[in-house]
Formats: sequence, C-alpha cells, structure tokens
Amino acid sequence: MKHTLLNHSLAEVDSKIAALIHAEEERQESTLELIASENHVSRAVREAVGSVLTNKYAEGYPGKRYYGGCVHYDVIEDLARERAKQMFGCAHANVQPHCGANANTAVFLAALKPGDTILSLDLAHGGHLTHGLKVNFSGAYFNVVHYGVDRKTERFDMAEVRRLAREHKPKLVICGASAYPRTIDFAAFGEIAREVGALMLADVAHIAGLIVAGIHPSSIGHATFTTTTTHKTLRGPRGGLILCDAEHGPLVDKWVFPGSQGGPLMHVIAGKAVAFGEALRPEFKEYQKQIVVNARALAEALAARGYRLVSGGTDNHLMLVDLRPAFADVTGKDAEAWLEQAGMITNKNMIPFDERKPTQTSGLRLGTPALTTRGLGPAEMSRVAELLHAALSTRGEALGLQRVREEVREMCKQFPLAG
Ligand SMILES: *Cc1c(COP(=O)(O)O)cnc(C)c1O
Repeated sequence: MKHTLLNHSLAEVDSKIAALIHAEEERQESTLELIASENHVSRAVREAVGSVLTNKYAEGYPGKRYYGGCVHYDVIEDLARERAKQMFGCAHANVQPHCGANANTAVFLAALKPGDTILSLDLAHGGHLTHGLKVNFSGAYFNVVHYGVDRKTERFDMAEVRRLAREHKPKLVICGASAYPRTIDFAAFGEIAREVGALMLADVAHIAGLIVAGIHPSSIGHATFTTTTTHKTLRGPRGGLILCDAEHGPLVDKWVFPGSQGGPLMHVIAGKAVAFGEALRPEFKEYQKQIVVNARALAEALAARGYRLVSGGTDNHLMLVDLRPAFADVTGKDAEAWLEQAGMITNKNMIPFDERKPTQTSGLRLGTPALTTRGLGPAEMSRVAELLHAALSTRGEALGLQRVREEVREMCKQFPLAG
C-alpha cells in the first residue's frame, strides 16, 4: 500500500510544525539579524535543500559509491567540488562535512595522533571550541597550547605566536576565529608553521565569503588545510567544506569518509553547489564589499555613541562591543536579552581578558552579513546603532523596549526578505 501521507502538505500532516515554521518566517522577517555567523540563504538554495535529494544514500565519492542509483548525485557533488575549487583557487575540495566542526574533526584525524600538540587561539580571545576546548574532542584528545591577543592592541601578536610555536613544537598550528574583527595574516602563520615543521589549519568559517570575494587575504597557499562553514558569510546551507592541495586531498577524503562520517547529506551538498554558483557571480563580490562597508559604518556609529570596540574597530564583517565603558553594570547577557525584546538579534560574547563568566560576559558580538543580504546600507547602520543604543538605554524597561521594537519592525518592512 502506498504511504498514505506521501503527498500531503506539511500543514495537513503536522499543523504544529507548519505553524512554527510560519512563526519563524515572521520572526526573521520582522527582526534585525545581527549575529555575525548567520545569514539568509536564497530561495534557490532552500529549494535544493528541501528537495527529494534527501532520500538517497551516497556513501563514498563520485564514481566510487557504496550504493546504486547515484548517477545524478555524482554530477551534483562534482559540480559542488569544482565550484568550491574555483572559488578558492585550490586543487582539492571535500564538500561532505556536515558542518564546520565536522570539517575540523576530519582535519584533526588526518593531521594528528591522540596526544599530539596543537597551537591555537584561545576561545576566550575569539577562538572556536573545536580548536582545543577541554570539553570538545579537540581538547580531550590532544595537547593544547593557546595563544591569545595582545592585551593592549587586542590583536594577534605574531612574535608571541612564534615564541609559543618554537617552545612547544606543535604538530598543527591553527588560525581562524569566531570573534576576531581584524585581518588575519595567514602568510605569517604559515611561515611560523613551516619554521617549526608543523602542519597548518586555517579555519576561515567566518570570513570565507570575504576571501572568495578577494577582500580578505586568502589562506590558500599558506595553510596545509583550509576549513570553513558554508552558512556564514558564504551564504549557503548549513554545512562544512575542506580545501587543500592535491597532495593532501586523498588523506582528507579518507578521514571525512569513512574516517568520521557516514552518508553525505546530498540535499545539502546540492544547496552548497547552488550557493557556490551564486558566490562565483560578480554580484557576490559587491555583496561582500557592502558587508565590510556596513560593518565599518556600524562600528563608527557605535563608537560615536560612546561604545568601545575591541581593537578599536573592524576590518571584516564583525565587531566586538565592550559594554563596560558605556554601561558598567550591564552584562552581555542582559544586553542580548534586552535587544531581542527590541527586535535586534545578537549574541553575548567574551571580550579579551573578560572578568565576567562566559554565561554573563562584558561583550556583545555584532555582524552585518544578514542585514546586508536584506539590503541595508551605511545610512541604515547609523540608524541601527541609534536603535541599539535606545534599547540598551532603557536598561530593560519593557515599555521602552516595546517602543524600539515598533521602530525595528518598521525598518524591517522597508527591507523585506520575502517576495
Ligand atoms: C562557526 C565556526 C565553526 C563551526 O561551525 P559549525 O557548523 O557550527 O560546526 C568552526 N570554526 C569557526 C572558527 C567557526 O566560527
């Protein structure tokens, strides 16, 4: 008997989930998305991810699958790989990692043995949990040495990175960050890694779009492995990607499958192919440029209102606001909650040398990729700073936040996502 619900709509089959998706569409439409790691994908990407491609097992790689029926999947994955290589100008791409963390897992397995030493950025200074946090596999199974940012400049001190590399002789040097507002000197990291005989991983999860557009220096040619997410500035579906040279390609492939994953998410890989195709168009470069212009405008507008920005500003798509000078007693946790009530979605974030706990924090991380996608420009950034300041100035007073919420709603109406 044919599955009775095979061709019913979601609303018919599961009205609860349908209503929640609708509510989420409303939420995204009517709020300002300032989380630096988020974006709005195109309808084309959503169509690919929501397609029948979710039905298939395609363990293995194009031409070498463990299941029949992969004829179309081979072409899709090859397109995704070719576009990824073209975007970054490199010889090898693996598009199968389910997410950024999985991409890093595969590289760790390819590069290291348990107990080996890695040198990476401290999470409290903008790093990522997969770069050696104790409660993550990377911290549990490897010997982790961290560098941080300089206390005064709040930027990487390459002399200090070199000193640590010489002292600890890591097998893998990791650079790349989740909350670092400045340009990363991949060439300098590469030089240090080579000097101590280490492999190098550049995790460009946040800035991949900027690199593809040529407005941030590329890690290709400096790092042994480059990993990224596909859903941040790259504006694709949630997923991971690994790039490397031809020599390391087979090793990477082996440690993605069968090393650390089973069947690839082929619907997501199709979405990646679509997003990479979008990223290869000239408009994408303009989009990335606008992200950076907007970030600078937002940073300047905030500074003009008395906010201190970690390292004094931004070179990329994000900034870290140190709340202490403007509001000594307001934590990042308070600020995040108040801003959400006012329709501005952000995340609390540690600032370097933060004296508050990670669950409280003294900082707020803000990014412009999603706002830029919906068409906001520098003039609106100054307005966003004004609304943000108005919301924080209420100190959580509900009526005041409600007033700001209405203004945010109006602004969102002027820059619709749907339609
Ligand atoms: C976001 C991010 C990741 C992980 O991405 P997930 O898809 O959430 O696993 C890895 N590294 C860095 C630097 C990131 O910012």
